[in-house]
Amino acid sequence: MANQPAGIPDLIPHYIDGERVPSVDGDTFGVLNPVTNEDYTVAASGKQADIDLAVAAATRAFHEGPWPRMKNRERARILSRIADIVESRDQELAQLESWDSGLPITQAKGQAQRAAENFRFFADLIVAGRDDTYKVPGSQVNYVNRKPKGVAGLITPWNTPFMLESWKLGPALASGCTVVLKPAEFTPLSASLWAGIFEEAELPAGVFNLVNGFGETAGDALVKHPDVPLISFTGESSTGKLIFGNAAPHLKALSMELGGKSPAVVFADADLDAAIDSTLFGVFSLNGERCTAGSRILVERSIYEEFLERYAERAKRIVVGDPHDPTTEVGALVHPEHFDKVMSYVEIGKQEGRLLAGGGRPEGLPEGNYVAPTVFADVAPDARIFQEEIFGPVVSITPFDSDEEALELANNTRYGLAAYIWTNNLKRAHLFSQNVEAGMVWLNSHNVRDLRSPFGGVKASGLGHEGGYRSLDFYSDQQAVHITLGDVHTARFGASA
Ligand code: NAD
Repeated sequence: MANQPAGIPDLIPHYIDGERVPSVDGDTFGVLNPVTNEDYTVAASGKQADIDLAVAAATRAFHEGPWPRMKNRERARILSRIADIVESRDQELAQLESWDSGLPITQAKGQAQRAAENFRFFADLIVAGRDDTYKVPGSQVNYVNRKPKGVAGLITPWNTPFMLESWKLGPALASGCTVVLKPAEFTPLSASLWAGIFEEAELPAGVFNLVNGFGETAGDALVKHPDVPLISFTGESSTGKLIFGNAAPHLKALSMELGGKSPAVVFADADLDAAIDSTLFGVFSLNGERCTAGSRILVERSIYEEFLERYAERAKRIVVGDPHDPTTEVGALVHPEHFDKVMSYVEIGKQEGRLLAGGGRPEGLPEGNYVAPTVFADVAPDARIFQEEIFGPVVSITPFDSDEEALELANNTRYGLAAYIWTNNLKRAHLFSQNVEAGMVWLNSHNVRDLRSPFGGVKASGLGHEGGYRSLDFYSDQQAVHITLGDVHTARFGASA
């Protein structure tokens, strides 16, 4: 196939206990390229038996191997090596990611840098880390004995897959856990790089295990495995709910990074040029397949018509095309199933809003999962395109007349992942930020991450916040050890007769 990167394997295997292996039952599934929608290889299709082997390997590595018992500095050294290797493979990763997911090549570049940073950051954090000690004068000294929780089950989605896997792998490994990763079935290619990277960095065998396969089989078996005490999941809110229920009988620790329908609120006093650049990037970068996309733009009425005109004009000029082409700004959506879903929302939007740009396939691209950047104006809050996550290059724009109305509209969905506020009024900026129902707020910017800050959503967008020390806390138990100094006063039961 044209532009196919070199070295694509005939089979993307599992990686269990340091070995690349097929499925126990030999089953595979096709992996397609979103430009042609033709299968270019197959991946091993994991089931309960494969998950059992992976969990057994991770359990052995946890109980008998060196990883959880290493000094933080030793673990950090390996994590830093992983970061260096990941970074050195930026070009290769970008090619594979773009090929497998349809992400424009210019946006796939840099994903390795971001992934590397996740390992480097957690390497630094565990070396600099400290735990609490509490003194009760004359009677106790109590300290926290931090220890890794065990085998971590990591379940990831298909948007920027390698980078999102690193968000979980970095802190899980830094904490001393061993892991079983179940990457998304649409995009298993880049995850297959991890095995070689970890081997080169000399991560002990069995610490990292990977099982490819579908959510309903491999993912489900991981969630229900009794020897996996924690699951870190990123994906759709509906899948999150299902996993929550399935994990409940086992009382597992859960970290849930779920969907979003984030508002970008543009007040009349904002820097309009910057707001237009940023709100375009915020929804159309990464093909619109980004959890924190600012996919509902709320604009103060006095600048509404000007905003619409300028925004739509720019949206029409966004370059849609072959992900491999460096001039492409929006590539091909990941899979025909997802393409159909996004297209169905485009049709719904035509009934619910005023179409200003896009509205279907771009001209000249009759094949592949291409959607023209689509802008709907005058979208009412009860519209489905206002309420539901589309996860593609589609945006709805709604006017507002007052701060109160803007806040009411911003909070008027079941989601609460991110919010973007554009204003130069300091009081308004902070009051609005503090009242908006979102796990993360950016003032006068799109999503620019600081790895120390909490990451996560509220409402249907997630449970628990990761980021910085919070991630290490999720993968660690914090046992309280109480040391008694001197005599302890004890009521003497049974001593009165
Ligand atoms: P998805 O929920 O369909 O799948 C995510 C993962 O879960 C896949 O690996 C899938 O195989 C697995 N899975 C599916 N059913 C399962 C089950 N019953 N048991 C165990 N595992 C199961 O999500 P997706 O379509 O791959 O990803 C897109 C979604 O992810 C969007 O909603 C997006 O907003 C969300 N997302 C959230 C964040 C965040 O940080 N909040 C980041 C990226 C993506």
